[in-house]
Amino acid sequence: MQVFQTISEIRSKLKSHIPTQSIGLVPTMGALHEGHLSLIQFSTQENDITIASIFVNPAQFNNPEDLQKYPRTTEQDLQMLSESNCDYVFMPSEAEMYPTPLTLGINFGNLEATLEGAHRPGHFRGVGVVVAKLFNIIKPQKAYFGQKDLQQFLIINQLAKQLNFDIQLNCCPIVREKDGLAMSSRNRRLTPTQRTFAPKLHEALLLTEKKLLESGNIATAQHTGIQFLNDFGVFEVEYLEIVDAETLSPVGAKAKKEAVAICIAAKLGDIRLIDNLLVKRI
Ligand code: AMP
Repeated sequence: MQVFQTISEIRSKLKSHIPTQSIGLVPTMGALHEGHLSLIQFSTQENDITIASIFVNPAQFNNPEDLQKYPRTTEQDLQMLSESNCDYVFMPSEAEMYPTPLTLGINFGNLEATLEGAHRPGHFRGVGVVVAKLFNIIKPQKAYFGQKDLQQFLIINQLAKQLNFDIQLNCCPIVREKDGLAMSSRNRRLTPTQRTFAPKLHEALLLTEKKLLESGNIATAQHTGIQFLNDFGVFEVEYLEIVDAETLSPVGAKAKKEAVAICIAAKLGDIRLIDNLLVKRI
């Protein structure tokens, strides 16, 4: 496995490959876990060359403290990637990615106005810019993202369509701990007590789904999930929404025919966790 820190180095390396070799890209912010490695595995199965990027992208952090406390475990990450048969790692510095202050604006419309976008102003602009940069630098045929960040995937899909990136985007299943907690780099920051509560997020999703399937009533199901979490007295629920899985707009009377997603964000102390679940039919 080779590690590249500059755009010119990785570009010249990629130029040395014959054009028929397919490239799969897995963008990450490091602090890797099994969820990230599952994306690497999808890529190595489907491409000749797999490239992981590790870049804690300041442009997508709306909270400076979250950026400062974001876990950084480079040595361990490189070890894990090497053991997963990743071919190249692109690990640029902030100055390499943003040599001049970012002035570019992007707006994802309705897709950005809800859920994470509503609670993290500017977040998806930062995501959109960095992913567009990575697509331009690496020029992969395929890129792999996690359903864990469902809204991010839909945003990147919109970005790729509207800017005509010639790329196939893949949304891969959420990898969970045995107790149901969705794997996340931020889980490392949980105290042992917080860690015992964290799987309740997934339980809340399952409970909401059950209630939705039983009652067919969006408001009742939503209320049940939120109440379940509030009763522990340790969560600050930012949202628990039942939405159209493609547009993320609220589902109303049409819910019976649509694929529906239940999306949640809640804080345990200063650690913000997100999760979601796709309900195929209600
Ligand atoms: P991050 O390093 O948090 O920016 O995540 C990099 C990629 O890994 C994103 O596409 C995430 O959606 C994906 N990812 C994060 N957690 C998981 C998980 N538990 N299962 C599958 N994919 C994940």
